[in-house]
Amino acid sequence: MSHNLIVSLIAIIFASVSHGWNYKEQDKWPGYCQNAIAQSPIDLDERSMIRIDMKPLMFKNWDIEYNATMTNNGHTVLVELINKFPVSVSGGGLPGSYNLVQFHFHWGSEHTIEGNRKALESHFVTYNNRYKSLEEALKYRGGIAVLAVLYEESARQNDKFNPIVRSLQKIKKTKQKTEIKINPTKLLPREFTRFYRYDGSLTTPDCNDVVVWTIFSELVPISKDQVKQFSSIRDAEGKMLSQNFRFIQPLNGRTVFEIYTDDVCC
Ligand SMILES: [Zn+2]
Repeated sequence: MSHNLIVSLIAIIFASVSHGWNYKEQDKWPGYCQNAIAQSPIDLDERSMIRIDMKPLMFKNWDIEYNATMTNNGHTVLVELINKFPVSVSGGGLPGSYNLVQFHFHWGSEHTIEGNRKALESHFVTYNNRYKSLEEALKYRGGIAVLAVLYEESARQNDKFNPIVRSLQKIKKTKQKTEIKINPTKLLPREFTRFYRYDGSLTTPDCNDVVVWTIFSELVPISKDQVKQFSSIRDAEGKMLSQNFRFIQPLNGRTVFEIYTDDVCC
């Protein structure tokens, strides 16, 4: 076997171990990432949004402390609740009822506000319950709804983040997993009555453009030290994952709505 062939084989094996994509080479991302039109994240600018009223968002089984697993998947920190009944969200103009599958974090927010990147962003990934699974829902426009929260750096630490931040040290290496107890509503803002809405995509490969986005406009505080704990996570190659946000994508004529609701229901 020639030296060049061995080097190529090692490169191929290495790429497959790291799932073939990373945040440093976004121009090489596969799937819909390079050529689909309705991609995420985007910059959010209220001056160009259309303001509308909607019925309130309805959350079912969210305000409960769950046992959950938290995993370092090499790209993010992923939390999966161990729940017997669906944790669902509907209303607020969503085209159906959506079941929560997992939530995860991006350090360095993905969505920006008038060009400003915030410290952290969480994504609560849900799929329309008219489909059997997340995998099936990924094939249909509106199949997925992501609720996003932006966290802004503050001088005080956010104690509600402690169950997550304290456990980050246990999953520094890719594929490490730990168990936590978490009430998902603790990571949401106090107000659900104002949010941004647009049609976009997953922000990781394959970037399927099937996502109804809800980004709460209230920013939640988090301390610099708490955010720093996230960036000590290591990727599949063992390198520090210092940031994990996708670059801002063009709007391509899409409308972004600024939604007001009277109250939160149920
Ligand atoms: Zn995400």
